[in-house]
Amino acid sequence: MTPTVVILGRPNVGKSTLFNRLAQRRIAIVDDTPGVTRDRKQAEARIGGRDVTLVDTAGLEEAPPDTVAGRMRQSSEAALRAADLVLFVIDARAGLTPADRAFAAWLRKAALPVLVVANKAEGRGGIAAAMEAFELGLGDPVAVSAEHNEGLGALHEAVTEALGAPPEDEPEDAAEDPDRPLRIAIVGRPNAGKSTLLNALMGEERMITGPEPGLTRDSVAHEWVDHTGGRVRLVDTAGMRKKARIQERLEQMSVAATLGALKEAEVVILVVDALLGMDEQDLRIARLAEREGRGIVIAFNKWDAVEDRAATRRVLDDTLMASLAQLRGIAVVPLSAQTGRGVDKLMPAVRTAYALWNKRVGTGELNRWLEGALSRHPPPAVEGRRIKLRYGTMPKARPPTIAIFGTRAEDLPEDYRRYLVNTFRDTFAMPGVPIRLQLRGTK
Ligand code: GDP
Ligand code: GDP
Repeated sequence: MTPTVVILGRPNVGKSTLFNRLAQRRIAIVDDTPGVTRDRKQAEARIGGRDVTLVDTAGLEEAPPDTVAGRMRQSSEAALRAADLVLFVIDARAGLTPADRAFAAWLRKAALPVLVVANKAEGRGGIAAAMEAFELGLGDPVAVSAEHNEGLGALHEAVTEALGAPPEDEPEDAAEDPDRPLRIAIVGRPNAGKSTLLNALMGEERMITGPEPGLTRDSVAHEWVDHTGGRVRLVDTAGMRKKARIQERLEQMSVAATLGALKEAEVVILVVDALLGMDEQDLRIARLAEREGRGIVIAFNKWDAVEDRAATRRVLDDTLMASLAQLRGIAVVPLSAQTGRGVDKLMPAVRTAYALWNKRVGTGELNRWLEGALSRHPPPAVEGRRIKLRYGTMPKARPPTIAIFGTRAEDLPEDYRRYLVNTFRDTFAMPGVPIRLQLRGTK
């Protein structure tokens, strides 16, 4: 059965336009006059890789305008009853009206699965305007412009997520495949032990390593099943390739190759030579990974050859604290790629990092956190004017991204931003994950 998605909202918010956009066909008639689209329109559409039946309830306004419930019953109750998801459309430009609020109250009471779509949110300031819809208490609004074709990607994603996993027999896109391998990159300085580690992880000698840097051959993509039973794919063998120019490689890693791997990976394993400690090059790679918003785990390699382990670990922790505070709590796995000792701890750490990187925090929880953080430590005034933060949402994960809205929010000083990120990280237990903070001013 294809799920049914019903578009609902007061007249003129852009339901028909959205319907046409999603159906990618001109079925409904769009006109400036409220109520021009009379009948319920229905179309088969493909949303986020899934077939759905899309129903437009434009025409709701034709029902006797006594009560909201009455109007709903008149025109759309049947459609709503059959809905797997309701797209409740509001006009971000016009702001919330009493009719919107009444519909919202009705939807909340009916406990229907609802996604609030704030339409007409094109251009700058559109998203901020759309966020008013957060007040409806129906979850995170998705800001779109049906007419200008903006934000539709996010809407597709949100609909897909709201509909949940399709039934078994339904074909799905590769990108949504739960069996899709976890994409990792193994990066680090030359000679840190990346090739040796890869061999240890794959459990077989796929690559040639030796005491001399430069022995590794050009490699193709590797995929294997790790001992947790999950599939893993090495997206690139940055720094393991093109070892021809040994001299150059000995000096430094190739930033371009590393960056290429980082961009494709979900989690990055940074191999650090414990005998040498974490140096400027390692930090540079870690910061690059952070900047790209990847999940990161440190493989502290050659642990077998380290004499004073406690001291070595202390030095590493100090370095991380002093020079990589933005990844506070990053997972460090001491291991020996050569002997295999500790290698079994690496993939579980990688999977934990991956889970945190994907973690979402609900809007309610997020705002409770925000309220607490603000009351413990109110935002400073900037140039004598108060910054008032009102509410937050988490528009996306991978990496976790928080959006906070408020008056002059974008003027918030750097140290206060850090404070917010750190308390967020602590409250929701997300150590070592790059966290994005977006601040958006509202009028
Ligand atoms: P409906 O009554 O809810 O079905 O609304 P329509 O789809 O008929 O749209 C009502 C009006 O809003 C039309 O004039 C559309 O051109 C306009 N409209 C629809 N989407 C957008 C949008 O994203 N931005 C702006 N600025 N106008 C829009
Ligand atoms: P890559 O350049 O990062 O790919 O590093 P390789 O995997 O080629 O390893 C560089 C050197 O470090 C080789 O001589 C390895 O034998 C050595 N090595 C790698 N892992 C370990 C380890 O866990 N312990 C010790 N003692 N040596 C290691």
